[in-house]
Formats: sequence, structure tokens, C-alpha cells
Amino acid sequence: MRAAQLSKPRANAWSPSLGGLDKSLGTVLHCLEPLSAHTSLRLGGEADYFVNASSLQQISQSISFARQRTLNWMVLGNGTNILFPDEGYRGLVIHLGRNWGGWQLEAGGRLRCHSGASLGGLLGWLGQRGQHGLDFLVGIPGSVGGAVAMNAGIPQATIGARVESVRALDPQGRLLKLDHDGCRFGYRSSLFRRPGWVVLEVTLRLGEPGERRQGDWDAARLLARRRARQPLRGHSAGCVFKNPTPPQPSAGALLERAGLKAMRIGGASISALHANFILNRGEASSREVRQLIDIARDKVYKEFEVELQLELAVVSN
Ligand SMILES: Cc1cc2nc3c(=O)[nH]c(=O)nc-3n(C[C@H](O)[C@H](O)[C@H](O)COP(=O)(O)OP(=O)(O)OC[C@H]3O[C@@H](n4cnc5c(N)ncnc54)[C@H](O)[C@@H]3O)c2cc1C
Repeated sequence: MRAAQLSKPRANAWSPSLGGLDKSLGTVLHCLEPLSAHTSLRLGGEADYFVNASSLQQISQSISFARQRTLNWMVLGNGTNILFPDEGYRGLVIHLGRNWGGWQLEAGGRLRCHSGASLGGLLGWLGQRGQHGLDFLVGIPGSVGGAVAMNAGIPQATIGARVESVRALDPQGRLLKLDHDGCRFGYRSSLFRRPGWVVLEVTLRLGEPGERRQGDWDAARLLARRRARQPLRGHSAGCVFKNPTPPQPSAGALLERAGLKAMRIGGASISALHANFILNRGEASSREVRQLIDIARDKVYKEFEVELQLELAVVSN
């Protein structure tokens, strides 16, 4: 990565004059950062600007930097449910990862964590302390912020149900504390998927250590199930489509019945194991993944009259 102060992002794109704000962002602001390095699909061109933020001040300054230059900006967590275009992102990507990834247990079985915390690391740490309230998230490779924004989970349980409150920036840049209802959790959705929202810190209700509650899951069994049913070794972004409302079959079942398993375009293919996963076999482009998505959606609609909705966040410029 190169430091922004040293290089122009793109010839003639717009004035690259980098003033005081950039000095305050220091070396955390970078130009022409390859997004493929930050996504589980390993796809995406370069972001004009990229910040790996480690403080609230850096997050706010990054947003101001984008606003002052009328740049698009967006938040990226672990990049495990997102597809960037081959052309990259024309604007600023604010990455909230392990640099913004602290957490602490509090009284009453509450966990307070920064949004960049990795779910995997957090679950391992909690397990060592006998806290099992989030075990159903085992094997989901995102950040806490991404999981809250997506309301990640399994069919029987989602992270939203464990959220007590969220500290977030709203689209006007105000720092707010939202209670559970204010987060407007839905199926793989929340208020925070709307443009301009940033999840900063999340308080989760876990219960006391050792306490097993209804809805707690056996992590080892869940992980074994995932390994048997999902192509965890390849580069994917998890499920591409949301499941339609029951009693409709799952998206994976519909895609499989439509004969789409193992379909391939260039270096991208629909998994032969789980038809709702698209894999980058190493040399895929984002365009090929999007072509597969379009074909799959059309075929399922023609055969079953079901309109599949994307779970994957597909970014466009
Ligand atoms: C192998 C595999 C298995 C998976 N299994 C599951 C599963 O069982 N269940 C499930 O729900 N998901 C699953 N996923 C998808 C993914 O891991 C989850 O959706 C995860 O919660 C995304 O988190 P992330 O940090 O990677 O988000 P990203 O991919 O970085 O971002 C996803 C969206 O959230 C937004 N976002 C990220 N962080 C923030 C923030 N701090 N504030 C505001 N918005 C933010 C982004 O702008 C983007 O719109 C799987 C993925 C893979 C690769």
C-alpha cells in the first residue's frame, strides 16, 4: 500500500490536493488499494482511497475527508459478503478490521466490542471463558460490525437477537446509541445497511459464563455440519441469495433443482457442493461472478417463478 500524501490517485480524475485533513489521517490513508486483498472472494479492483481505521477520530476524519471532496465512501468489515467491481471503487473505503477490534466482558453477562473485531477470534476467546451465547455464529468469517449490519446467523438464530445496543454514526455524522429495536433487524438486514451508517461499537447480551440458554448451540456440531455442506476451502462470499419466505424451498435447493450446480463461467463457478455459493477458482473476474448471478436468478425465475434476492452486497460505482 502507498501513502496518500505521496501519490495522486488517478490522473485528471479530480483535484488530488491533499490538505490538513490528510496530515491528520497520517499514514493510514492509502491510494489505489487492491480490494481483492480485502475480500474473501479475492475479487475487486482498486479503491481510490482506503483507510484502515483504528480510532473514532480516524473514522470521523475519513468521512470528513470524503465529504469535503464529494467522494463516495463506504465501510468494509472482513469483506466476506461483498463483491466489488473489477474497475474498483471510485471513492474512499473505510476498513474497520482488527485495528478497531477490541472487546471486553462487562457485568451481567454483557459483551462490549468494537465493530472491527473478528467473529472467529471473539468466539474462541468467549469459549475459553465458558460463554456460549454466540456459538451459533461459529464458522461465519465476518467482523462484528459486518455481522450486525447483515444480521448474520443461521436459520434458527441471528446476532440481532443478542444485540442490546449499538453505538453508530448516522448519515449526518452524529454519534448515536441505538437500542435493539432502533437497529431494525430483519432477515439479513438492519438499519446499518443503508448508506451513511457506521456501526462503531456493539453491546451483546450473552448471559453468565456457563449458563446455557435456549437457542445456544453446540459449536462443534455446527462446524461439522458446515464443513460437510459448504465449500469452505474455496474463495467465496458465503450464500449469494437470501432464502425465499417459507414454505418456498431454500435458495440453494431452488438453484440445485434448476440444474445450476457446478455451472461455470470463466474462473467463476457455482459450487458443486452448495448451489448458493459462487466460487472464485483463482482466475475469476467480478464480471463473471455477476454473470453467474444473473443467469441463476433468471433460470430460477423461469422454472419456479421465484425472484431470488441478493444476500451478497454487490457494490457498484
Ligand atoms: C464461507 C462463508 C460462510 C458464511 N456463512 C454465513 C452464514 O452462515 N450466515 C451468515 O449470515 N453469513 C454467512 N457468511 C457471510 C458473511 O460472513 C457474513 O454476512 C458476515 O457477517 C459479513 O461480515 P463482514 O465483516 O465480512 O462484512 P463485509 O463483507 O465487509 O460487509 C458486508 C456489508 O456490511 C457492511 N458493513 C460492514 N461493516 C460495517 C460497519 N462496521 N458498519 C456499517 N456497515 C458495515 C458493508 O458496507 C457491506 O454492505 C459466510 C461467508 C463465507 C465466506
